[in-house]
Amino acid sequence: MPEILLDNSIDELKEIVAGLGQPSFRAGQIMKWLYCGAEFDDMTNLPADLRTVLSCGYVAQPLVIQEHYESSDGSVKFLYRYSDGNIIEGVYMPHSYGNTLCVSTQAGCRMGCSFCASGIGGLVRNLTAGEIVAQVVAVNKFFGGSVTDRKISNLVLMGSGEPLDNYDNVTKFLRLITDKNTFNIGMRSISLSTCGIVENIRKLADDGYGVTLSLSLHATTDETRRELMPIANKYGLGEVIDAVKYYFEKTGRRVIFEYALVKGRNMSFFDCKRLRELTRGYPCHVNLIRLNYVKEKGMAGCTEAEAQRFCKKLEEMNVSATIRRSFGNDIGGACGQLRRSYIAKR
Ligand code: SAH
Repeated sequence: MPEILLDNSIDELKEIVAGLGQPSFRAGQIMKWLYCGAEFDDMTNLPADLRTVLSCGYVAQPLVIQEHYESSDGSVKFLYRYSDGNIIEGVYMPHSYGNTLCVSTQAGCRMGCSFCASGIGGLVRNLTAGEIVAQVVAVNKFFGGSVTDRKISNLVLMGSGEPLDNYDNVTKFLRLITDKNTFNIGMRSISLSTCGIVENIRKLADDGYGVTLSLSLHATTDETRRELMPIANKYGLGEVIDAVKYYFEKTGRRVIFEYALVKGRNMSFFDCKRLRELTRGYPCHVNLIRLNYVKEKGMAGCTEAEAQRFCKKLEEMNVSATIRRSFGNDIGGACGQLRRSYIAKR
């Protein structure tokens, strides 16, 4: 299998070009081309023989946009196809504060959350750092952007996969995409969502990444959380909350809790009270999510009015909370469903 050139940092590219007997400025040229979405044939300021040598050992762009679906709200869903045939999805969302791309970190997922479509077929494989970068590159190019003219300002690691179950590739992705030689996206403009792998939350804090941490809480008791998310059998709520407090202490970043509202499971008055206790004494915010219906899972969400009532109760208890804006309802296929329906169609 040829290697993925996008997996390399600028220093690693310098080593590669040196090994090919080329001056080190070639590394910068190649980096620019790669982040513009170019293939080797497009890299016209490189000597032809260098392009030939590179194309024998490496792939420039490890994915293509297989399909895309545009919503009337301005969001666009993408299905990417990787060189090995794996299909992954992503969503582009225009916000008033900037354009956000939701990226995937694994093909499939092994966390098995009870409401989530991404985990239905289990984990297929981890994505490499360059394969995650390639999602951003492809969508930026789709909107006519280049490495200097970025069309994406924010990233959320909330696509398929558990980012902290693919720690080394995901953190390398963070280093690559924030590099001034590439897209120079600020760590503060990136949110990483995790089901709560405690030791890697602590490691992320210790390693100094400083992204916004989103913690998939979804329940206020260990019992309910274990029913919804198998990972809760490994880490209790106490440990998870300690880890996010540690993250705040180390990075100074306010923590976001994701809380998918599931009728009859996590929406009682007592849940509000417990949420207040869990979020007391450190800067954090609760993002309420109206469950997207996944037919294989058959779990009931709630109405907009019920979500608003729950949100209001939290506000009355002085818990900072909002309902997450939902994008792309008219193009369907939320949270891993697009990929599943595409694969089923084939
Ligand atoms: N593995 C990461 C990223 C998952 S996707 C994590 O667990 O945080 C981002 C968010 O969407 C998570 O909070 C996840 O629990 C939530 N989610 C998954 N399926 C959903 C569904 N059907 N409806 C609403 N939210 C869902």
